[in-house]
Amino acid sequence: MEPLPELSPAIKLDYLAEGGANIVYRIILPSTEEQALEPQPSELPYYGSSTPPPTEIDDINPDIDVDINITSGKLLRLRKNVRYGLPYHDTAHDFQTQVRPLFDDEELVDQIMVRVPASVIQRCNANLHERERLRKRPAIRCGVYLAEDEPLGMLVTDMTTTTTATTPSTTSVAEVGHIVELKPKWFIQSPSAPSKARRCRTCALRDMKRADSPPFNSRSSTIAPVVIPPGKAQFCPLDLTSSDKKDMQRTIRQIFPSLPPERIDTIAGALYQHPILQKLLSLQRIHNDVGLNGPPSGSKETSLSMTLRDCSIFLKIPSSTHFSNVQARIDIRLGDLDLKSAANGKAEYWLNIEKRLIDEGWYMGTQASQAGTEGECALSR
Ligand SMILES: [Zn+2]
Repeated sequence: MEPLPELSPAIKLDYLAEGGANIVYRIILPSTEEQALEPQPSELPYYGSSTPPPTEIDDINPDIDVDINITSGKLLRLRKNVRYGLPYHDTAHDFQTQVRPLFDDEELVDQIMVRVPASVIQRCNANLHERERLRKRPAIRCGVYLAEDEPLGMLVTDMTTTTTATTPSTTSVAEVGHIVELKPKWFIQSPSAPSKARRCRTCALRDMKRADSPPFNSRSSTIAPVVIPPGKAQFCPLDLTSSDKKDMQRTIRQIFPSLPPERIDTIAGALYQHPILQKLLSLQRIHNDVGLNGPPSGSKETSLSMTLRDCSIFLKIPSSTHFSNVQARIDIRLGDLDLKSAANGKAEYWLNIEKRLIDEGWYMGTQASQAGTEGECALSR
C-alpha cells in the first residue's frame, strides 16, 4: 500500500453521527500551537532527499504542517466492529476499482484514507461508553463499538458546514443554509416486483417497515405531531427522476415543508433533470442484479447493484441571505458508495425482504395499513 498520512494521537474528535457500520466524527481543528497531524514517518522515505516533494506543496507556508490541509473541511469516518464490516483497506480497494471509475470528481463526496493510531480508537470507544451512560447515543446503536484492530479511517468531505469552524456546536443552520443527506434508494422498480404493482420497491418497503414498528400498531391518536428532519422525509424516489417538473416540486415540499413556495420552486428547478440524478438512474438500470435476481446466497462477491441503491445524495443549499442565483450554487454530490458485500448473510437478508414484499402484498398495496399511503408512491396515483 502507498504510504498514508497518519493522524496525530492527540487529535480531537467530536461524535457527529453513526450508521450501522461506521461512526462519523467532526475534527476539532487545533489551536495554532497544536497540530492535528504529525509528519508521517513512513512518508519520509517517499519524499526523501532523492525524491522531490509534490510541486503543490512548494508554495505552502513552511510554518504550517502541510498535512493539516488534509483534514480541513473533512469529517473522519471510523469503522465499527460488526459482523459484515470489511477492513477499510478492502473497502477502499473495491471502491477505487469498481465504483470510482463510474463517476467524475465533482459528482462525489471526496474520501481519503488515513492511518489512525490505536490510542485514538480506544479513546473514542471510551467516549462511546460514556455517551451510553449519559444516554447520548441512539439506543439501537448501543453495545457496538469501533473496531480496535482497524488501522485506517476515512476522511470524507464535510457537507454539514461551509466553514471550518472550530466550534461547530455554535454554527447555526441559518448561517450555512440547508445541507441535507437523502437516501433516494431505488430509482427504478425491482425487476421481480409484480407487473401491476402499486408501490415501487422503496415505497413498498417503507410501508412494510411502518407496519412492523410498534408506534404504528399502537394506533394512539394522542401522539403529538412529529417534526421530521429533511433527511428523514418520506417521498417516492421515482418522483426525483420524473419527467414532470411538478413531481420534483411536490418532493421538495415534502423534504422542506417549512420553506416558502418560491424557495421550493428554486430548489426543485435546480434538481429537475439534474445530470447526477439522471446518471444514478441510468447506472441503476445497467446494474440491475437485485430483487430475486440478486447476488447468490453466501456470495463473497460484492454487489455494485445494491451499492448504487443505497448511496446518499448530499444537497448543499445556500442560506436565504445568500439566495441570489441559488440555483447555480446548489451543490449536489453522491456519497456512501462503499461497495456492499453480499457475504455474511446480507444476500439472504436482501432476498428475504424481496420475498416478503411480494408474498405479503406490499408491492400491490393490498395490506390494510397501506390504505393510508395511497397516493404517496408514483405507481399508486
Ligand atoms: Zn414509490
